[in-house]
Amino acid sequence: MTATSTDLPGGHLDDALLAQLREIVGAQHVLVSEGDVEPYSRDATPLFRARPDAVVLPGSTDEVSRVLALATAAQVPVTPRGAGSNLAAATVPEHGGIVLVLTRLNKILEVSSDELLAVVQAGVTTAQMADACAGRGLLYAPDPGSRTVSTVGGNVATCAGGLRGLKYGVTRNYVLGVEAVLATGEVIRTGGRLWKDVAGYDLTRLLTGSEGTLAVITEVTVALLPAPATSSTGVAYFDDLATAGKAVAAIIGAGTLPATLEFLDNKCINAVEDFAHLGLDRTAGALLLFGDDGRGDAVEQSLERMSAICAEVGARSVTRARDVAEATALLEARRCSLPALARLAPITMLEDVTVPRPKLAEMVRRIDAIAERYDLVCATFGHAGDGNLHPTICFDPADGDAQVRAVKAFDDIFAAALDLGGTITGEHGVGAAKRPWLAARLGDDQLKLLSRIKTAFDPARILNPGKLGS
Ligand SMILES: Cc1cc2nc3c(=O)[nH]c(=O)nc-3n(C[C@H](O)[C@H](O)[C@H](O)COP(=O)(O)OP(=O)(O)OC[C@H]3O[C@@H](n4cnc5c(N)ncnc54)[C@H](O)[C@@H]3O)c2cc1C
Repeated sequence: MTATSTDLPGGHLDDALLAQLREIVGAQHVLVSEGDVEPYSRDATPLFRARPDAVVLPGSTDEVSRVLALATAAQVPVTPRGAGSNLAAATVPEHGGIVLVLTRLNKILEVSSDELLAVVQAGVTTAQMADACAGRGLLYAPDPGSRTVSTVGGNVATCAGGLRGLKYGVTRNYVLGVEAVLATGEVIRTGGRLWKDVAGYDLTRLLTGSEGTLAVITEVTVALLPAPATSSTGVAYFDDLATAGKAVAAIIGAGTLPATLEFLDNKCINAVEDFAHLGLDRTAGALLLFGDDGRGDAVEQSLERMSAICAEVGARSVTRARDVAEATALLEARRCSLPALARLAPITMLEDVTVPRPKLAEMVRRIDAIAERYDLVCATFGHAGDGNLHPTICFDPADGDAQVRAVKAFDDIFAAALDLGGTITGEHGVGAAKRPWLAARLGDDQLKLLSRIKTAFDPARILNPGKLGS
């Protein structure tokens, strides 16, 4: 089901409305000039761009509430935005209106060792929160590669994953509760400080991953863990990805649950080596990064076991980081994959499919075949332990119809993921970029249900129109 014009809000931002917005948040927090709003026309997703009529930066929950009530009354679209680091065009305001930026809500309100939780405003960055927790000996487990810029509100709204997903899960596993503002201005609090609470529908989970289409999140309470005593990382090189895939299956099959199990293909290894000069083996077909954390002796045992399994299934070499600096450098190899690939060509399109773990190698084989068919450079890296792959196509828009071929290639990649029992997005979200593929993943009945849920939260359908629920 696609959005129709009757689904979408039709109001306009006129001078009277702008004056009211300035009155609510202060004139300096309402941007309208071409130069000021341009950076909010796009996010980290290439090819998508749309100009908002105004950018509004509220400084409190009350201001968010008043802006939303006004927008609903005037039927003006509102696109909530954190850092704009998403990779699914989820903050591109395709229907104009207001981009509502939450970064002024940037206070860490509480970190509690006794209750193992933190309460933060939505605009705090993931790294700021995680570092504040680490300073108290506590771990905030979700670890997106964008942690230094992404906001906690954005992480919740996208249900962000990261490098520790296999052992620790993703954002949804850590959200205890949120304060959120409905499109009509009511402020609700879902969940809270309780670890056990089944009173009512689980609205916290529903809002987690709702991509700014149901409500604006203003405050988040997250669960924490005691920080592990130690961690260690190793790297195994394989001739090809199929063998690396066997190692992944064997590691998990042996009852090990690593904190890290990431892979890079040969093109990615080379791009990272050119970028970061880490001494990676450029000739390997695949690199598998494996790691664990916990008590020293348990980590040692786990790393020994994973090293032995990699060797048994045919790794051409297996090494262990000798110290924290070496382990950090290895993890950096994985973290810098996207910036490294971004240097290969002017446009870098990164995608995010997930397949059942046993289908990992087959999916990579299909991705390579698709890239060859469309004559495109495609590198793949990802969270092997989660079956989550990031095929990345790099091209020069000056190269004839390269962009058209890239879009077709991704269509084929999504179809292949679905064919293998997978999904069109594992952690980046649907946004505008993958909205056309949602019916193929969910089916029409679920799409209609999503739309009805959206109307219940957002009767005028002003929040992030054209995306989830539209
Ligand atoms: C280099 C790089 C590495 C990345 N690595 C990872 C990774 O490892 N794992 C991963 O999952 N993602 C990753 N991402 C993608 C991105 O960082 C995440 O999706 C992140 O959660 C987005 O946070 P943000 O604050 O930038 O949100 P934005 O991009 O601003 O918004 C994302 C979505 O959330 C909504 N939203 C934002 N804030 C709110 C709010 N307060 N209330 C309601 N809705 C809101 C928006 O409307 C939009 O739909 C990466 C991106 C980059 C550029």
